[in-house]
Amino acid sequence: MLIVKKFGGSSVADRERIFNVAERCIEEYKKGNDVIVVLSAMGDTTDELLWKAKEINPNASKRELDMLMTTGEQVSVSLMAMAISSLGVPAVSLNAYQVGMHCTSVYGNARFKRVDTERIQHELQYRKIVVVTGFQGVNKYEDYATLGRGGSDTTAVAIAAAMHADACEIYTDVEGVYTADPRIVPNAKKLDVISYDEMLELASLGAKVLHNRSVEMAKKYGVQLVVRSSLNREEGTVVKEVKKMEKMIISGVASDKNTSRVSVIGVDDKPGVAFKIFNTLAKKGINVDIILQSVGREGTKDISFTVAQDDLDEALRILDENKETLTIQDIKHKDNVAKLSIVGAGMMSNPGVAAKMFEALFNAGVNINMISTSEVRITVLIDENDVDRAMVAVHDRFGLGD
Ligand code: ADP
Ligand code: ASP
Ligand code: MG
Repeated sequence: MLIVKKFGGSSVADRERIFNVAERCIEEYKKGNDVIVVLSAMGDTTDELLWKAKEINPNASKRELDMLMTTGEQVSVSLMAMAISSLGVPAVSLNAYQVGMHCTSVYGNARFKRVDTERIQHELQYRKIVVVTGFQGVNKYEDYATLGRGGSDTTAVAIAAAMHADACEIYTDVEGVYTADPRIVPNAKKLDVISYDEMLELASLGAKVLHNRSVEMAKKYGVQLVVRSSLNREEGTVVKEVKKMEKMIISGVASDKNTSRVSVIGVDDKPGVAFKIFNTLAKKGINVDIILQSVGREGTKDISFTVAQDDLDEALRILDENKETLTIQDIKHKDNVAKLSIVGAGMMSNPGVAAKMFEALFNAGVNINMISTSEVRITVLIDENDVDRAMVAVHDRFGLGD
């Protein structure tokens, strides 16, 4: 069997954890399996590198930030190969360049285009454990580009798909996928199985246990995932295709604090204005989420929308630069907001779900700024300070806990 195992930052945070991972990989190897290990940077390395960059140049280019961040994973893979070798099993570390992990050129948010298999195959033939850097690819300029925060999961899935692996296991610091972040909602329940679609929604709405692109890719290539703890032997959660059921099932609650609200005030109330505003942002790669348009007055209207907090400065700059062409009178923003979402199949065909969520928020004294719904989710924008409390309240109201 060929097994891909991915370990996140906290699973390789120090010497003891590195050896714990090394031993688990060797155990698999000694059963006669081929083992590919994908690693994140140790502990909080990626954040620390970003702080270092900020000290030197707060406006550093995304290219240089990627060049810096990719060093984190290079440290962990080389140390892991050394740890495995020291235990008497041959191992080799490889970065994205050496493997041939080809990606698009968008620094900080690259997507894989193609993964070469020859080098990994070659090393496996020599019965080595192959340890590969997560989170990075090489673009057409032969530069490193990162896949977005949490992207190592996607590296694991991309390799599992390219190599036709028999299993892809994501090891992390919790025992699987829960009905809510177990660090915020202590009685959240571990799910034995979750469908790709529901997992994709949860991940896209802030459940960072899996990078959303990893789920997208796993679904596309039919890679079954197992999410489990690197610290114990519990079963974990299987992410796979699950047949749609008639009954509505709420799969969980997710929150995203990486959210800001932008309002453009007094824009012309005529066709094409919204198009121009959102097209201008889209062209610069800024993703807009919940949108709310207020009723116009004196031929003008206000439009509010959310963007990721990381994109806020750029969004404000772009809007300001184009203020006249976009007919904007004023631009306002608020960055201490968060999204809270409830996810499950068949939301819209089950009346009362939204009411139940709003009731829970009302009882918790939480004010709602914006609302957005779809067949598989209801999302509200609320104050960041309220979001943990609100998550517990909504999770409880739907009886999702243990
Ligand atoms: P890693 O470094 O292993 O990639 P992450 O920090 O990226 O780990 O993801 C694991 C974290 O995701 C958990 O520690 C947990 O706080 C958080 N999380 C958020 N939502 C969920 C959820 N629904 N189920 C499990 N964990 C969740
Ligand atoms: N080290 C990267 C990050 O912190 C990638 C990852 O952990 O998946 O975002
Ligand atoms: Mg992660």
